[in-house]
Amino acid sequence: MNKYAEFENYLKEQPDAAGRFGPYGGAYLPEELVPAFEEITQAYKTICHSAQFISELRRIRREFQGRPTPVYHCERLSNRLGTTQIYLKREDLNHTGAHKLNHCMGEGLLAKYMGKKKIIAETGAGQHGVALATAAAYFGLECDIYMGEVDIAKQAPNVSRMRILGARVIPVSHGLKTLKEAVDAAFEAYMKEYKDAIYCIGSVVGPHPFPMMVRDFQTVVGIEAREQFQEMTGLLPDAVCACVGGGSNSIGMFVPFLADPVEIIGVEPLGRGEKTGDHAATMKFGTKGILHGFESYLLQDENGDPLPVYSVASGLDYPATGPEHAYLKDVGRVRYETATDREAVEAFFALSRYEGIIPALESSHALAYAIRAAKTGEFDSILVNLSGRGDKDMDYVIENFGYGEDLSI
Ligand SMILES: *Cc1c(COP(=O)(O)O)cnc(C)c1O
Repeated sequence: MNKYAEFENYLKEQPDAAGRFGPYGGAYLPEELVPAFEEITQAYKTICHSAQFISELRRIRREFQGRPTPVYHCERLSNRLGTTQIYLKREDLNHTGAHKLNHCMGEGLLAKYMGKKKIIAETGAGQHGVALATAAAYFGLECDIYMGEVDIAKQAPNVSRMRILGARVIPVSHGLKTLKEAVDAAFEAYMKEYKDAIYCIGSVVGPHPFPMMVRDFQTVVGIEAREQFQEMTGLLPDAVCACVGGGSNSIGMFVPFLADPVEIIGVEPLGRGEKTGDHAATMKFGTKGILHGFESYLLQDENGDPLPVYSVASGLDYPATGPEHAYLKDVGRVRYETATDREAVEAFFALSRYEGIIPALESSHALAYAIRAAKTGEFDSILVNLSGRGDKDMDYVIENFGYGEDLSI
């Protein structure tokens, strides 16, 4: 038996009924919220096999999101680097410009089927808030987004987008006034309102069933890409890679390739370097622990409190990764690498200049790894999940790195 065969029934086997991927995952919840999460789990279990739910989601993906997104061969960039051929899965062309809408539309449809009137969530940089506000507008649901006051000041364009889309952005003004406090505030609101509302998590993190549900909604990326790549080349790629923040775009890309003889690489942000507080490379430097209701690799201090994290890409600066990534690392099926801020910004300019595609700084981390691998020539082909477009990052890049004059691109 080859080593890939054990992954043939993977989606049926992982997670188990308690939401465990090996020793990771689970649901660590305050007592009051146990019934609410149980309700979501039961509803999802019923609905995800219903022909009506599946065909409605397919129609939304086609007509509203513009799926399938294409796979694109980066010929000029590949030729410049050597013999490795780089391909992109173009999630930047998904409606709203990133992969997050894939699970937000799924969560919105679930809310609708459950008869909920409102969706509640927190947001950090605002990307999840915008995708969810979009889904709420589509389904005619109310949408309350909790956001730290510091983040509100930093992310003005996303705050405007959410408000234009009809969402309520609720400022959180205690503690450090950033993502962690926003998570607490959203949870508190959900505890009071769970009869009429559903809480929507923005990645493959949080208590069961979210890591499973968000994974299932995101696998459309890998399923499409696998088929498209084979149609284009007659082969599977030698390697696939994606950036890892919470882990949703990467898990969606990876899972459909698990049973194939394909090398799979997750790329984490190494920020300014290896010192604590300078990066968010959880799989490289983290240890097992519990945060926000689930068990996984965490960047934590000796008391189990999350350590400060940093990345040039605000979508990647989370001190944990989804439990499924922890599992896939331990069983040796996925390899985790890192890319620094500088490498990501170089990749940002390289793709812009050689291919006419401005990538999100998050996605630029995956691309930076592909560029590094192409220079060594270890793969004939590598498929990169381009999780989002970079318009949101342009001002920041220009202010801090100019137009890339002193970068090696
Ligand atoms: C939010 C975001 C990410 C990181 O989230 P994952 O759950 O790790 O995918 C990556 N890329 C883009 C464009 C994002 O907006």
